[in-house]
Amino acid sequence: MTTVDLPLLPLGRGRDVASERGVECPGDLPAASDPGLVARARAAKEALGERVFVLGHHYQRDEVIEFADVTGDSFKLAREAAARPDAEYIVFCGVHFMAESADILTAPSQRVVLPDLAAGCSMADMARLNQVESAWEALAEAGVQEQVVPVTYMNSSADIKAFCGRNGGVVCTSSNAEVALEWAFGQRGEGEGKVLFLPDQHLGRNTAVLKMGLELGDCVVWNPLLPGGGLTEAQLRDARMILWKGHCSVHGRFSVDVVRELRARDPEIQILVHPECQHEVVLEADLVGSTEFIIATIEAAPAGSSWAIGTELNLVKRLADAHPDKKIAFLDRNVCYCSTMNRIDLPHFVWAMESLVRGEVVNQITVDPETEREALVALERMLALPGKTHRD
Ligand code: SF4
Repeated sequence: MTTVDLPLLPLGRGRDVASERGVECPGDLPAASDPGLVARARAAKEALGERVFVLGHHYQRDEVIEFADVTGDSFKLAREAAARPDAEYIVFCGVHFMAESADILTAPSQRVVLPDLAAGCSMADMARLNQVESAWEALAEAGVQEQVVPVTYMNSSADIKAFCGRNGGVVCTSSNAEVALEWAFGQRGEGEGKVLFLPDQHLGRNTAVLKMGLELGDCVVWNPLLPGGGLTEAQLRDARMILWKGHCSVHGRFSVDVVRELRARDPEIQILVHPECQHEVVLEADLVGSTEFIIATIEAAPAGSSWAIGTELNLVKRLADAHPDKKIAFLDRNVCYCSTMNRIDLPHFVWAMESLVRGEVVNQITVDPETEREALVALERMLALPGKTHRD
């Protein structure tokens, strides 16, 4: 039987696409209707005390964020975990690649737990190691591999970070993508360098064109589902940016027509978006930046100002609740949560925490030592970059 390389990893164990709950939770997963869930979560956290450190990504549900010791973007959270060497357990309320990064950056004795293993990231899943290695070989066949430096967004699996580490590349976040690209182009001499940007084509294109002055025509898109990425050798030779055909299923939804509709309704409205949005949307926006930038912008905005925000809905709702003196709208007509981030709910959190209280470590995320070593090379190159913050 031939196996089909699905573009996305299905939920559930193996290829069990029918599994609605994702993965088994050995023991009892509390019912979502259990009225005692909040008390149980509090009791488990109290019982574990300093032995546990709970991280909450900005896109998590309110019910989970309430129990986070710290909130932030993926890189900030991984660094916070690394700064707490006394915490035996790191419970990561986020998605799989974030828990991997925390495991890479924390001490070997610290154990990282993801409350629901079905909390993956569709963008990270769009670049698999075998696909990236095939692309790398194709670049060699086209005679351009030596000019190419791979750059991967933080939102990628540990083995893709390791690929970048062993091939002279670097990790970047949405805050430092410009500096990372400058560094990458500089590795191969003035005007000679090319970048293979993984896995988010939009962050790559937006940074190259809007921050670094490249033309759209300098960018090509490598489609891993097509032979040769769907590109000719001449296209690969002419390109400066080879963008992986990946995107965020949340940020990719925002559209220009909604931007125009909102502006027609409220001429004062300011459009604030994340650089994972499509290029046309970013071109129409007033401001573009990372989640931390979005939060800081709204905090600094004057009372009465009017905003439409293009990022995950949990964060937009929390910002609207925290700033009732400002008009804050969501930049989409429909509800648009990150479905995998939302896999972490209170029942899974309680289940993971109560298991730890009993001394059972469930859903531990571990990165093998070789992958960890090579991924760390790419992460350390990022940390050595000058200037900008290292947040996404
Ligand atoms: S919001 Fe997008 S990039 Fe972030 S975890 Fe969800 S799918 Fe991945």
